[in-house]
This record gives sequence, structure tokens and C-alpha cells, in this order.
Amino acid sequence: MTNPSYKRVLLKLSGEVLMGDQQFGIDPKFVAELAKEVKAAKDSGLEVCLVIGGGNIFRGMAGAAQGMDRAQADYMGMLATVMNALAMQSALEQLGVHTRVQSAVQMDTVCEPVIRRRAERHLEKGRVVIFAAGVGSPYFTTDSGAALRAAEMKCDALLKGTSVDGIYDSDPKKNPAAKRYQSVSYDKVLADNLKVMDAAAVALCRDNAIPIVVFSIREKGNLARVLEGQGVQTIVQ
Ligand code: UDP
Repeated sequence: MTNPSYKRVLLKLSGEVLMGDQQFGIDPKFVAELAKEVKAAKDSGLEVCLVIGGGNIFRGMAGAAQGMDRAQADYMGMLATVMNALAMQSALEQLGVHTRVQSAVQMDTVCEPVIRRRAERHLEKGRVVIFAAGVGSPYFTTDSGAALRAAEMKCDALLKGTSVDGIYDSDPKKNPAAKRYQSVSYDKVLADNLKVMDAAAVALCRDNAIPIVVFSIREKGNLARVLEGQGVQTIVQ
């Protein structure tokens, strides 16, 4: 049974989880698997908002490191998140899940702009709303976009599905004795600079009392387990 304190959640997926086992881009088979997990969450009675990163295609910082103008590179990153949103929309609709994509960078012929009240209506009608293009400004990330949409949409939790199964006190790849936190405070995450989400996103969640649940989306069925409170995860609260 789904955690009864969750009625509406925002699921943030890093772009890299859409790559599956590839080194770059979108693996439609893996996106289809992710879509099944999202459908199961929705079918359990939850209202689901989605935010997907763009790191599988382009990150502004990487472009800037190669000499591009940072803002220009960030616009490219935002466009990458729209591509991922459309890929997920297609996968969800193939499963019969009704969806709408709302982009913070307007693209009238492709998707809707972000309109909070319209997004509310979509959720009421049982649609999954996929928010694309982060906050719509350079120098931000989709983590900040996820925190912002979770706050505006009054979500009960921000679920961060990534390729690691929580937050550790040191890098588990380098230190075999690294310990995973069950629960950790927003302030500790910020003070110790724990790598979970960028500081602006964590602060926004803290100021709006939105718990952040960090878990691995790579294992099948993990989203459902996390929603039941049975998953391997770290909660920031
Ligand atoms: N981006 C941006 N503003 C936003 C959200 C994203 O400029 O509000 C750009 C930024 O260049 C970022 C890229 O889009 O690197 C992809 O997003 P992100 O790195 O958050 O994706 P993830 O790491 O989750 O795959």
C-alpha cells in the first residue's frame, strides 16, 4: 500500500537514467520500463508530476568547459530536457497513461507552457504532468526546477530517482565502508555539501517542508517499494 501521507508526488529523474546501458542519449526500451513504473505509481491512486533532467544529452557546464557561452549552453541543456520529456510522454501514452508536457521555455507547437492552474486541472483529470526545461533560466538545474514545481504544485514529496540508492557519508565507489543515511536533515546536506541535489533545490525544499526521497530508479519495482516505505532510500527532511 502506498504511503498514506503521499497524495501528490513529484518524481525527478536524472537524464542519465534514460540512457539505460548506453553512454549517451535515450534508450527507448529503458524509457518504456521507466514508464511502467510511473504508470504503476499513478494506478496506485497518486497524482504524479514528473521532471526529467537533460544530462544524457547536454549539460550547460560541459559546454561552458569547452569554451561555449554558459547561458547559451544552458539553453541547449534546457532543450535536451524537452526531448527527454517528449520521449517519456510517448512511452507513457503507449501504456494508455494520459499526459501533458508543460515547458518553461515556450514551444507552442510542441507542448503547453507552464501554467500552474492548468497543471492542477490535468492532475485532477488523472493525467501525468511532465514539466520540462527546468525553471526556464540558465544557471539553474532541473533539480531546482523539480523543487520549484513540487512547491507550486504542493506535492507531498520530491522523489529523486537516480542511479545511486541514497545519500552516503562518503563516496561508496571509493570507500567500501561508506555508510548510507536513512534520514538526514536539509541543513546537514547543505553544511556538509552532500551530493544529492544542488544547494538551491535543497534550500527550496527545506523552506517549503518538502521531503526529498533519494533512491535508485534502476532496479525494477523500486519506485513502488519507495512509495510503500519499503525501499532502499535516504530521506532528506
Ligand atoms: N538547465 C538550465 N536551467 C534549468 C534547468 C536546466 O539551464 O532550469 C540546463 C543546464 O545546462 C543543465 C541542463 O539543462 O545542465 C540539463 O539539466 P540537468 O543538468 O539538471 O540534468 P540532469 O543532471 O538531471 O540529467
